[in-house]
Amino acid sequence: MDGAPIENGAVVVSGNRIVDVGKFDELKTRNAGQVVDLGEQALLPGLINAHCHLDYTCLRGKIPPQKTFADWIRAINAEKAKLSPKDYLSSINEGFAEAKRFGTTTIANLTAFPDLVSQIHAPIRTWWFAEMIDVRTPEGASELVDLVRRRTDSLRRATESLNNTENWGLAPHALFTASKNLYERCEEIARCENVLLTTHLAESREEMEMFHDASGPLYEFLKSIGRPMDDCGNHTPLELFVGASRGRVLPQWIVAHLNELAESDFELLKKSNMQFDIAHSPRSHDYFKHSQFPFGQLHSLEFNICLGTDSLASNENLSLFAEMRAFQRSEPGISPDEILKMATVNPAMALNQENMIGRIRPGFCADLIAIQYSERDNPFEQIVGFDGDVDWIMLNGKLQRMRPL
Ligand SMILES: [Zn+2]
Repeated sequence: MDGAPIENGAVVVSGNRIVDVGKFDELKTRNAGQVVDLGEQALLPGLINAHCHLDYTCLRGKIPPQKTFADWIRAINAEKAKLSPKDYLSSINEGFAEAKRFGTTTIANLTAFPDLVSQIHAPIRTWWFAEMIDVRTPEGASELVDLVRRRTDSLRRATESLNNTENWGLAPHALFTASKNLYERCEEIARCENVLLTTHLAESREEMEMFHDASGPLYEFLKSIGRPMDDCGNHTPLELFVGASRGRVLPQWIVAHLNELAESDFELLKKSNMQFDIAHSPRSHDYFKHSQFPFGQLHSLEFNICLGTDSLASNENLSLFAEMRAFQRSEPGISPDEILKMATVNPAMALNQENMIGRIRPGFCADLIAIQYSERDNPFEQIVGFDGDVDWIMLNGKLQRMRPL
């Protein structure tokens, strides 16, 4: 992802960093040390998942597609009610193992249970986004954020000494479940501290219907559980999100979904010069049968678009290769190297790590994966087409044994 593919290429790693990249014959004249010959493989940067909820790995196959988005929320809530903290712990651990098997070395993971994180050793580079909902108690937004922040701060101090691969962010869930206060409080913290923000926005037609028309299944469902609905009936979700920040410089947001945008929303994006990072989850998108993701329009407005798997409550596995292929099916005109960027370079930028991960370049973290490769076909086409487990992974300079010897 840092120039054209290099035939008979080699990468020199020292400690946890890449220190040299080029043709093997040249590199061996200026570097000493142990040589690992991978044979006929393509070596690429580890993949980066821009949007995931490992909490729900154990819900794979449990929720068939529902008639409405509101029904899906009811269904996942019913499943969640059956789970204990122990179930969530194993769900998260299984999710990590699966993501890693599929060659993911960095993950932006939303968790509704930041308290459990101290009991988990993340096996890959992780951004934990504490997911927050105050749909029934919007008056307590500040307290909720402060509570989450105190917990994540102490966890951050605990993990910092161990390694430097766990990071924290805040995730007010969505406009329909998190109050304006909650969003503002999170933004305030992000401005003062080095904390990333993510949220779900304009995901479904029902979310649009709720905010724009004050009607529809999602509107009725949320009203029935006591959400104040006075922000409904006048604006699109994007207008509300941008409007809340009117006149202020927005901190950096990773915005998941953006499937439902009105023509006026695109005008607004053009005028406002807003730049956020976008996480698109092609297979979860297909599961919900959302409107076509407006890739072309968002891309032409120069938004940074990344791929994520979303959770297994709406997807079948955590493979970003499968996600790239699903995206390719919906956007056959986009070249496979552009698509690979959406799982490497682009999400690295979204995480403010564009000088650390997502490329094989001297100075970058040694997060590498190798996959079977034949000289016959276009390398990027082969990478996007790769289907299976990744057997060779180096993470932070350490070789990971993926199979028992
Ligand atoms: Zn999500």
